[in-house]
Amino acid sequence: MAEADCLFCKIRDGKIPADIVHRDDDLLAFKDIHPGAPYHVLVIPLRHIAGLDHGVAGDAALFGKLMLTGARLAKEAGYGDSGFRVIMNVGPDAGQSVLHAHLHVLAGRHLAWPPG
Ligand code: AMP
Ligand code: ZN
Repeated sequence: MAEADCLFCKIRDGKIPADIVHRDDDLLAFKDIHPGAPYHVLVIPLRHIAGLDHGVAGDAALFGKLMLTGARLAKEAGYGDSGFRVIMNVGPDAGQSVLHAHLHVLAGRHLAWPPG
């Protein structure tokens, strides 16, 4: 998918509104529009990367920062003790619906494992 047609690039560029909770030089985080838990935030790289499967070795620090930022946001939102889940869906079987890499951060209820 071309970057111009990408929903999350449009959110990054302010062309589509979102409830943004964090932005830095590499990442943007905003609330999921259909939350699957009381706390549900998506953390994306600012750069358009279609999915985790499109990451290359040079993106290791970026994806590491993505994970750690997700954890920090969950802890700052008060879920450090109760816990949280970070997950990336990749491809059709995992249900990836937006082809711009994003980390789901879910918290605030018991999260069953394995997911359905
Ligand atoms: P995935 O299915 O893993 O690709 O996750 C995509 C997520 O994006 C879903 O949880 C959607 O609810 C969420 N989403 C779709 N459109 C928007 C939007 N405009 N703002 C915020 N989240 C969205
Ligand atoms: Zn994009």
